[in-house]
Amino acid sequence: MHEMGIALQIAEIAKSAIPKTPEDLKIKAVNLRVGKLTAIVPDSLRFCFEIVVKNTPLDGAALNIEEVPIVAVCKECYAETIITDADFSCGKCKSGKLDIISGRELTVSSIEVADPEESETNKKKSKKK
Ligand SMILES: [Zn+2]
Repeated sequence: MHEMGIALQIAEIAKSAIPKTPEDLKIKAVNLRVGKLTAIVPDSLRFCFEIVVKNTPLDGAALNIEEVPIVAVCKECYAETIITDADFSCGKCKSGKLDIISGRELTVSSIEVADPEESETNKKKSKKK
């Protein structure tokens, strides 16, 4: 199950991106871009992430996974093809000489931080209503 190792890496990246102060900073969500070529199963990655971030500042953070399709450029006719199955051939000329230009991504695109002051203000506002 290689998702567990990946979940650990993501948690490390996210933790290093969190500002050190204030201490009670809560992470709302971690947004990920995951290429189809990584063969990651989003559900099992989310499951592993939940386990990995227990009792860390990331505890309770949502893991939003944006799947990136596999895109290849043909070396013969330079057409771009989105690879959807095991058939690695150009959609235009059927050549098998392709350069994969996306689909290997595994990056943390952004981290959403919950602002404690902001949620406090929102509570006050809703009381007035
Ligand atoms: Zn082609």
